[in-house]
Amino acid sequence: MTQIYRRVALIGLGLIASSMAHAMRANGLAGEIVGHAKSAETRATALEIGICDQVFASAAEAVQGADLVVLAVPVGAMAAIAAEIGPHLAPGCTVTDVGSVKQAVVEAVAPHIPENAVFIPGHPMAGTEYSGPRSGFATLFVNRWWLLTPAADTDPVALARLESLLKAMGAKVNQMDPAHHDQVLAVVSHTPHLIAYTMVGVADHLAQVSNSEVIEYSASGFRDFTRIAASDPTMWRDVFLTNKDAVLDILGRFAEELFVLQRAIRMGDGDHLFDYFTRTRAIRRGIIEAGQDTSAPDFGRAPAPVKPAGQA
Ligand code: NAP
Repeated sequence: MTQIYRRVALIGLGLIASSMAHAMRANGLAGEIVGHAKSAETRATALEIGICDQVFASAAEAVQGADLVVLAVPVGAMAAIAAEIGPHLAPGCTVTDVGSVKQAVVEAVAPHIPENAVFIPGHPMAGTEYSGPRSGFATLFVNRWWLLTPAADTDPVALARLESLLKAMGAKVNQMDPAHHDQVLAVVSHTPHLIAYTMVGVADHLAQVSNSEVIEYSASGFRDFTRIAASDPTMWRDVFLTNKDAVLDILGRFAEELFVLQRAIRMGDGDHLFDYFTRTRAIRRGIIEAGQDTSAPDFGRAPAPVKPAGQA
């Protein structure tokens, strides 16, 4: 594919940034990739594994001369980074971010972006429970949504160019209002993560089943929760601190539904439970039909190892 940006500066070099670097390299989308992360260790790793051509000890140095700057740090770190880089952005440069919350990021970043640069907030709806520069891979964004929340007066040429990069990395792109984004994400991602954290926390508090029994007998339901609950603590702390209103709204609705199910169980109302589970099953089918997951059973077991030819 053809090069879309001459010099891309990645600020933060974790799962998302390193996956972008791999995807851009695999498809020849960036002339040069430079980066900055907080620790010298992460910066050294980025050079060692080849996700960056150059790394810089400060974000201000890293963004100089870049035509695309990607803020890929936890949401709570965005304001300070934006304040630091604002005066050093090249004229005509596009700044985007990958934060999981959008209204708070717009408020934190937009005031620091100069008139001659363009800020296009974004959120790739793709991830794993792993973090750091070594966790990234080129196909993370393939067939995943990348939501952009541009302002109404955003330069359409800059927007089309960013969209072409995201699509070339395999993503499907859509635009929405930041407040609407935060509401949708509270339903599909943020509250489910909180519930997973809670369920794993409950098991941890039940002394008699903690330790060996929880681990030994973890059937798929609990085990799936533990995978989600292993997600990065800094990232998720920031998500809940910055998408507070939408998450509290959905949590309130969740609690109401839970009480209704609790009552159905207490009253032995099997019809209610059956109807409820029938409706939820249809949602799962819809997700599979939309191509956002497969129907393959996943019991968390590694496939049988492929033996090299000639070995028993
Ligand atoms: P990650 O793997 O934990 O990496 C975070 C990176 O940010 C690290 O390189 C870290 O540097 C750097 N960093 C943190 N604070 C910094 C600061 N003050 N100055 C400079 N660098 C700093 O994180 P991630 O999963 O890629 O997430 C990055 C962003 O993507 C977050 O805003 C998150 O909400 C969003 N996101 C994540 C996912 C997901 O599933 N993980 C999905 C979609 C969007 P050190 O290594 O030196 O500490």
